[in-house]
Amino acid sequence: MKLASLPAEFEAALPILQTLEAAGYEAYFVGGSVRDTLLNKPIHDVDIATSAFPAEVKALFKKTVDTGIEHGTVMILDHGQGYETTTFRTESDYTDYRRPDEVTFVRSLEEDLKRRDFTVNALALKPDGTVVDLFDGLQDLEHHILRAVGKPEERFHEDALRMMRAARFAAQLGFEIEPETQAAIKDNAQLLAHISVERVNVEFTKLMQGPAANYGLLELLRGRLNLYMYGLEAADIDLLGYADLLKQAQPANDQQAWVLLAFELGLTPDDTASFLRQWKHSREMINTASRSITLLNALRLDDVSNWQLYSVGSDIQTALAVADLSELVVDTDRLAQRYDALPIHSKKELAVTGADLMQTLQMQPGPQIGQLLSQVEHEVVENQIANDKTALLYRIVELTNKEKK
Ligand code: ATP
Ligand code: MG
Repeated sequence: MKLASLPAEFEAALPILQTLEAAGYEAYFVGGSVRDTLLNKPIHDVDIATSAFPAEVKALFKKTVDTGIEHGTVMILDHGQGYETTTFRTESDYTDYRRPDEVTFVRSLEEDLKRRDFTVNALALKPDGTVVDLFDGLQDLEHHILRAVGKPEERFHEDALRMMRAARFAAQLGFEIEPETQAAIKDNAQLLAHISVERVNVEFTKLMQGPAANYGLLELLRGRLNLYMYGLEAADIDLLGYADLLKQAQPANDQQAWVLLAFELGLTPDDTASFLRQWKHSREMINTASRSITLLNALRLDDVSNWQLYSVGSDIQTALAVADLSELVVDTDRLAQRYDALPIHSKKELAVTGADLMQTLQMQPGPQIGQLLSQVEHEVVENQIANDKTALLYRIVELTNKEKK
């Protein structure tokens, strides 16, 4: 098969492949970008594979960065773009069900394509538009099938993450996992326990956002992969509920995906934080999620107060998007308007400061100042008092007098 024209992203990278070829090496576009081009989908990163060894690649181009030189990856910088160029390689001796002990650079494209996970990911595209298809990936692409390259059992023993990737691509592409590949996942799911939580996280996060996330999650459950995923070991029923929600719409970003998951699992804000910590999420993600879950749990029980809206802060967007994705029946537009209409959105906007209390009211520094500010902050947010300096100072005097009595 030969493509009549290449997408603009490939056209722009052609000089790189041509330079490699002119120097006597082979060079191809590979991986997801080839698959997505053939599916008429937009492509993100352009990956190039070549028979040239890393040192040979570097000798041919002016600007390169060693982004993953030990795996044979060099980034070539060209007209402000970076192109990841990886030497053909084989991977040998997977003794621990994850990443190979060593990679060997080879001159053969076939060897390189053989180590790739699924047939639709093992296509290569020549600069002239010819598709190299050594494992019937084109046929699987046409029939929307995910099939391991070679013997699925062996491939999952080499790298157990591939089982997660099968569910992830099922979710992203809406492709069915071929029965033998599916059976091998079920038989080998326990190998996932050898894979680092960070790598599983990457695939799971993509899965939850795929257009066919519902199907991907059902495949994950069918394969019993969740038995080896932190906090999801016994969550089949909740995950089925989650899959059901994902049928209607999918989370628009990583935060929404994980918050919706935590909400479906019925976690408290504290449990959400420890759940996400185990998954090695960033501090930012953990904070957003626990704030969002606080608001969502309040919404689940009842209407929320101004203070609860205020406390979620700018994470309101995530919380309301998740409320829309969830089975909650709430008027999120009205909540967003209420949030916007809050008299203040952070303590910084309060019309008095600690310095004011010390200067105007001659108060001594100490914990009392913070307590008084928190009290009036609360009253301002609940519209019990105007956010006005004089009014707030009067109120503070009143509060301190009360305390003295
Ligand atoms: P995306 O569009 O999400 O980037 P992709 O197919 O490009 O999808 P990547 O994770 O970027 O996926 O990997 C690029 C390519 O490298 C894959 O298409 C596949 O050929 C190969 N690959 C990546 N990870 C593995 C793995 N664990 N085992 C085998 N091959 C892999
Ligand atoms: Mg990619």
